Amino acid sequence: MGNPKGFIKVKRDKTAYRPVCERVKDYDRVFELRSDENCREQASRCMDCGTPFCHWGCPIGNYIPEWNDLVFGGYWARALELLEATNNLPEITGRVCPALCESACVLGINDEPVTIREDELAIIEHGFKHNLLKPQPPARRTGKQIAVVGSGPAGLSCAAQLNRAGHSVTVFEKDEKIGGIMRFGIPDFKLEKSILDRRIKLWQAEGITFQPGAYIQDKSALQKYDAVVLAGGSRQPRDLPIPGRQFGGIYFAMDYLTQSNRFVDGNKLSIDAKGKRVVVIGGGDTGSDCVGTANRQGAVCVVQIELLAKPGEKRPTNQPWPFYPNVLKTTSSHEEGSDRKWSIATKEFLGRGAQVTGLKCVQVDEKLKEIPGTEFILEADLVFLALGFLHPVHDKLLIDLKIEFDQRGNVKTDANFQTSAKGVFAAGDMRRGQSLIVWAISEGRKTARAVDTWLMGNSELPAI
Ligand SMILES: Cc1cc2nc3c(=O)[nH]c(=O)nc-3n(C[C@H](O)[C@H](O)[C@H](O)COP(=O)(O)OP(=O)(O)OC[C@H]3O[C@@H](n4cnc5c(N)ncnc54)[C@H](O)[C@@H]3O)c2cc1C
Ligand code: SF4
Repeated sequence: MGNPKGFIKVKRDKTAYRPVCERVKDYDRVFELRSDENCREQASRCMDCGTPFCHWGCPIGNYIPEWNDLVFGGYWARALELLEATNNLPEITGRVCPALCESACVLGINDEPVTIREDELAIIEHGFKHNLLKPQPPARRTGKQIAVVGSGPAGLSCAAQLNRAGHSVTVFEKDEKIGGIMRFGIPDFKLEKSILDRRIKLWQAEGITFQPGAYIQDKSALQKYDAVVLAGGSRQPRDLPIPGRQFGGIYFAMDYLTQSNRFVDGNKLSIDAKGKRVVVIGGGDTGSDCVGTANRQGAVCVVQIELLAKPGEKRPTNQPWPFYPNVLKTTSSHEEGSDRKWSIATKEFLGRGAQVTGLKCVQVDEKLKEIPGTEFILEADLVFLALGFLHPVHDKLLIDLKIEFDQRGNVKTDANFQTSAKGVFAAGDMRRGQSLIVWAISEGRKTARAVDTWLMGNSELPAI
């Protein structure tokens, strides 16, 4: 602990954002990166706790107090080494992780927590800026061939770990570019895609083979591999089968975001909110991404509705520290303009001809029971359903491999991440259900160790 009084003297600095009126005109990054100096000062707030609950809160076991101390001392290269020991994609989690660690930070009990996520980001960006990240191909190859199907954070971190262990890894991806939801779900203004390309280039130099545009549909395509990892995500969207669902202008959020991300990458836009009244159903992060995208496209107005009650601004008593609490979250997209409504159920989509024109809604109580006399109509030209995902798409490949599913429809594995098909493993949202990037990384890393052990009898890859 470099500065024993840091947590008393230094206050948490808020993340700096570009002005709203400027940033809604483009898809560039909305926030400013912290300077090295500011980051050092913020890292000095870390108390180097004897029992670092931040570490407990982080699914990949990041060495948080250690790298905070190193950053404060100006030992950036050593901090980077420690960061890379537990996280294959810190430049992604540093940008979009909800930072479960910060909710568990001891300083957060009676002050604001340490800026752990931004400290992580500062370390990795310092590393790239100063050319500290070099390809590190394995010293020797094992001769084993592994196929990873799916290139989201689970598949990528699994591939990186397996390659590190000396196996020859090919990542298959059905989309035209690598990255999964990081590429086609999360908008550029939250996660610029050059960040992904930069990391993929490093991994290519380390020897991983990437095959985008390769939709694996039957097991014969995987026959030559010694082991297979399925990391296809959880992409079966939850629908809203109410009267009027057939009207045009009602889309799943992921379809809307995907075509918008492709547009930013130079393709044609097919769902354009320009001049339209937009309603987003679903109050979570995916809904918020739709809000930010619709505002950039020039929507006339954007309303976001949520079935559940408005969360409070403080931790609920049944979610005490160090747990991740359900509190009101106002994202940069919300700040750019949206009318948010809670405790609203949608009863019917209204339309003229084939096109949606509005939603018939009603207010509900805490038990989600309709409150009589509170019906109202929301006008809309475009509706986005951001209601989450049920489970992975049970596509041809899973059927052909005779993969068993759990009760929720996710791919079932044993404690070693192996599915019902011998030599076929599964990781990420496909296995655990819709979750977070940091959990996908955790799953990818653990699965890599399990595959390595299965192939070689033991593994030197880290257990978390
Ligand atoms: C819009 C949106 C925003 C989000 N924002 C955040 C956020 O800000 N922070 C956060 O932590 N989490 C966020 N999440 C959640 C997070 O993105 C996911 O939990 C994470 O991406 C899951 O990773 P994964 O590798 O399991 O799957 P995915 O990222 O879904 O990747 C799976 C990949 O497998 C490919 N695939 C599937 N089947 C095949 C096949 N047969 N052959 C070849 N390829 C195949 C798919 O095309 C896809 O590219 C968000 C989710 C969404 C939908
Ligand atoms: S819990 Fe907070 S203050 Fe304690 S070591 Fe972790 S980051 Fe530092």
